[in-house]
Amino acid sequence: MKTIVFDTGETLVRDDRHWASWADWLGVPRHTVSALVGAAVAQGRDCTDALRVLRPGMDVGEAGHARAAAGRGEYLDETDLYPDVRPVLAELRTLGLRIVVAGDGTARAGELLRALDLPADLVVTSQEWGAAKPDWEFFARVLEVSGAEPEATLYVGDHPANDLFPAKSSGLRAAHIRRGPYGHWWADHPDVVEAADWRVGALTELPALLGGTGRRKALAAPSARPAPAVESTPPGEEPDRLPAETADLPEEAAGPPEEAAEEPAPPGPSRA
Ligand SMILES: [Mg+2]
Repeated sequence: MKTIVFDTGETLVRDDRHWASWADWLGVPRHTVSALVGAAVAQGRDCTDALRVLRPGMDVGEAGHARAAAGRGEYLDETDLYPDVRPVLAELRTLGLRIVVAGDGTARAGELLRALDLPADLVVTSQEWGAAKPDWEFFARVLEVSGAEPEATLYVGDHPANDLFPAKSSGLRAAHIRRGPYGHWWADHPDVVEAADWRVGALTELPALLGGTGRRKALAAPSARPAPAVESTPPGEEPDRLPAETADLPEEAAGPPEEAAEEPAPPGPSRA
């Protein structure tokens, strides 16, 4: 491996502040927004659907502009980073790896991320590129800045449909991290197990995997957990197995998957 490219939200950056600020802006309890985000995650929907449940028809981009105009726009600082980010990125660099941070986000988010002065060679967001995940153009840009061939470029992310599957479809290697709601909920889904070159519970596992023997699927033990309800994919059909596109509001959505309700996501990366 020559280049490691990191997703941002819930891979490097905790989304607590992001969702809390939306809750405050909309005047609803923070837990309400978090719970609705969880519902969207479990249904394989875009998590901004949580906002549209509260404000039907809401244009999230426009609302973001209104927040910024009111002086309540996006913000993040060192306290929003997961604690392993800075040391692990630095350690990976000492292994001679090129480090890129490239995730979905606004240009403002890009400015805020670069202000953190992370140990990375490049920090960029989807709005700055004009291409967002899971579109192939985003991963084409990833490969442009990688400086390495696809099979020597690893994309690390928490979201199966936005990170893992499109990265693999673009020929990259991919690691899934069990972090944040998408990461925890979907970690043991058979499609994730099958697609991921590596599955990790923390960034701290990466240096040994990448600087060591390079063994594949080191943590990809078979899952004992039933797959969350997701539209079944005929054998042989490629990705978009987990619906990622913003969908209609959940009036007509199916209820929570029974099997998932019976056996909620395990609390951490360890498996029996
Ligand atoms: Mg993410």
